Amino acid sequence: MATFALHAIPVLEPRPSLAIVGENARFPVRRAFCIGRNYAAHAREMGHDPDREPPFFFMKTAEAIVPVEAGTPGEIAYPSQTGDYHHEAELVVALAKGGRDIPEAEAMKHVFGLAAGLDMTRRDLQGEAKKLGRPWEIGKSADQSGPVGPLTRYSAGTSLAGGLKLLVGGKIRQDSPLAAMIWSIPEQIAILSRFFELKPGDLIFTGTPEGVAAIARGETMRVEIDGVTPIEVKVV
Ligand code: MN
Repeated sequence: MATFALHAIPVLEPRPSLAIVGENARFPVRRAFCIGRNYAAHAREMGHDPDREPPFFFMKTAEAIVPVEAGTPGEIAYPSQTGDYHHEAELVVALAKGGRDIPEAEAMKHVFGLAAGLDMTRRDLQGEAKKLGRPWEIGKSADQSGPVGPLTRYSAGTSLAGGLKLLVGGKIRQDSPLAAMIWSIPEQIAILSRFFELKPGDLIFTGTPEGVAAIARGETMRVEIDGVTPIEVKVV
């Protein structure tokens, strides 16, 4: 009879943690919630009517988050099983405080900071999942599919009136005011907290505007969002 050695108990890798602008401490990531179709023009480019279907939530695993450090381009691997890997530039909100049924008027008091991020998407597999009524993880939660830059602390004076841009090779592909979000950040927090008890360390990817497109190995994406540190991420 064959004999088998007993496995060692796994030792888990530490959670990903984000840089914080001007501080040495880091922000540990707990979960990554994402909003789908939160910009009307993006909902339309994906073939949906934003007047009939409100935004909704999905998730990426925390393991998919790739911290991008200030001033250093990040790198993510082109994932397996796709021929159509899309960039979605997004403002990412990090929560310092959790809660259930958070009122919209109180929601921003829960925010630790804001960062530039990417909700990288295997669009072909996501499309197949939509068609078959299947869940989205295979399309949305590929390894390394969530690069996020350094967090800028949020305060009552922080402006959310700026814009978001994604550039590839110096050419603008996505360009939108943040004010074009259908659900504002306080609304997102309030609605999400009806479905989950939010916790410190949770991230919310707040949705992408129009202009999503495929990215190839060797190309570098730059995400610029007013008020936060820009990031550059190369697909390798
Ligand atoms: Mn997205």
